[in-house]
Amino acid sequence: MNPFIQLGIRHDIVNAISELGFENPTPIQEQSIPVLLTGSNDFVGLAQTGTGKTAAFGLPLLELLDFEENHPQALVLCPTRELCLQITNDIKNYSKKMDNVHVVAVYGGASIMDQLRQIKRGVQIVVATPGRMLDIINRKAIDFSRVKFVVLDEADEMLNMGFQEDIDNILSTTPNEKKTWLFSATMPAEVRRIAKKYMDNPFELTMGEKNTGNANIEHEYYIVRARDKYAAFKRIVDFNPDIFGIVFCRTKIETQDIAEALIKDGYNADSLHGDLSQQQRDKVMKRYRERNLQLLIATDVAARGIDVNDVTHVINYSLPDEVENYTHRSGRTARAGKTGVSISIVNAKELGKIRQIERTIGKKFVKAEIPTGFDVCEKQLFSIVHKVHNVTVNEEQIEQYLPRILDEFKDFSKEDFIKRFASIEFNRFLDYYQNAPDLNASVEEGRIRERDDRGPRSASSGPSAYTRLFINLGSVDEFNRGDLLGYICNTSKISGRSVGKIDVKGVYSFFEVPNEDVEKVNAGFAGAEYKGRPVRIEVSGEGTSDRRESSGGGYRGGGERREGGYRGGERREGGGGYRGGDRRDGGNNRGGERREGGGGFRDFSGKPREDRPERKRRF
Ligand code: AMP
Repeated sequence: MNPFIQLGIRHDIVNAISELGFENPTPIQEQSIPVLLTGSNDFVGLAQTGTGKTAAFGLPLLELLDFEENHPQALVLCPTRELCLQITNDIKNYSKKMDNVHVVAVYGGASIMDQLRQIKRGVQIVVATPGRMLDIINRKAIDFSRVKFVVLDEADEMLNMGFQEDIDNILSTTPNEKKTWLFSATMPAEVRRIAKKYMDNPFELTMGEKNTGNANIEHEYYIVRARDKYAAFKRIVDFNPDIFGIVFCRTKIETQDIAEALIKDGYNADSLHGDLSQQQRDKVMKRYRERNLQLLIATDVAARGIDVNDVTHVINYSLPDEVENYTHRSGRTARAGKTGVSISIVNAKELGKIRQIERTIGKKFVKAEIPTGFDVCEKQLFSIVHKVHNVTVNEEQIEQYLPRILDEFKDFSKEDFIKRFASIEFNRFLDYYQNAPDLNASVEEGRIRERDDRGPRSASSGPSAYTRLFINLGSVDEFNRGDLLGYICNTSKISGRSVGKIDVKGVYSFFEVPNEDVEKVNAGFAGAEYKGRPVRIEVSGEGTSDRRESSGGGYRGGGERREGGYRGGERREGGGGYRGGDRRDGGNNRGGERREGGGGFRDFSGKPREDRPERKRRF
């Protein structure tokens, strides 16, 4: 007998899901369907995406509702438009052999009139994001007085997005006797609280994850406008001076174009695709393996099976057409027990694809912000400082030149000397990144919004609404950005939505919160300990607004770099085309970031250098 029949699902539904390829129930379906089918329990399911939870609640709903009646009987609330559409579509698929089942998707960013029309025609299942749902309730366009079941899907995410109050308001329009089923990937205190508030002695279920992939890979995505993609990509690379990465493109042409553009901009990159001869491919791979190449730009096919250890980043310059390819791509990093980051640079329309990948791999992506020009400069500066600190000196070889070098610097103070050394590369980045625009595009319920009209959401978007805080925990404490966000929110009881940029360093990190939340964070962390160590929070010396002011009104883009900035050992000859050379003239830079007047050598003040009084020379 079909195992779904054994669980109590009727034939016409089982036939429909068989066509979808559901042969056996997933663990969460196996355990929750019999409980939910009784229709008499509140329910809490701790489950990741990709575990089959939509069917776990969708199939019982189809069993329990009366489809001869045309009024709302079930309400499914979820955080995003993509998930809303996905759930609606799934339930429609499960019920395609049933009569008179009406499911409506209610979400922002689409015509409300269409949705109102569908509701008016009669629906039994409403799948909704909270904002638009409340709008429709406020218009008195829906009657929830006979709702029997409410599903809160991805409850943690809804709370993170600040929907608590909307959910309260929506649920207050539903009858007290309804049953509430809550699904959440994590169970922070806030979710516990709503479980307690809305439920009566719920049945609780915790499920493992399906196909979590490599647990050491952190998945991140950046949302940018399509025209900013190349510039954003370069900025991410510049922000990771020690990157040793594979960049995936969708086509050979794109692979070639990106590699050529990077090479032209002075990056240590090369391409790997099917139009190269075997010999050329071997040569590229040899350089990459030996780390004489920092960025390998590749197609899926050409990169299949690359087994280079220590790849720090996989960058999906374009998302793959097939979701499975994403797993193959990201599996090029975090090999042999190492950790790695898989980055996707997407535009708002591709967000649905990210969600689809999340479902397939059963892991959440972290939404990351394209670093500001300031962040890049800071990162590069300290990278140089560390390199100088750690460099191995060839005493024997340098010995003979030492007297001349010392003579050249004899009038320099130690501080002056250090500043000059650090400035060799730093100046170049300052120059490139003066007035660099914010490249982050953001999405809210399906609409793309420019940062500027979002209000002061984060440091990079608003003048001085955010405060940058220091915390004495970092990557050595095994925090990544997502973990740290969760930890901060749990401890200080602020919404994840209000936390701005998070910058995880080694033994410490920085994060930004709205000025009005600083007190709350301090109070929440008072006396807090992490693994027996007191946790310290301090206002970072560098306030957000100060940073911007000191930069003379922001940064400029650019981003071309010289080979000189990379780890030693790469060779300029050998099939790679031009690299290196001093590109300060900015004359042949490409990418969307370049601004007016290309070429003037500017410093932090934003004034062309030639216009400024010459500094007194000390030698
Ligand atoms: P979900 O967690 O509901 O987003 O489901 C994740 C993916 O697993 C979706 O693509 C579902 O279509 C699929 N799926 C759910 N249940 C089953 C099942 N019993 N057998 C095969 N695939 C399933």
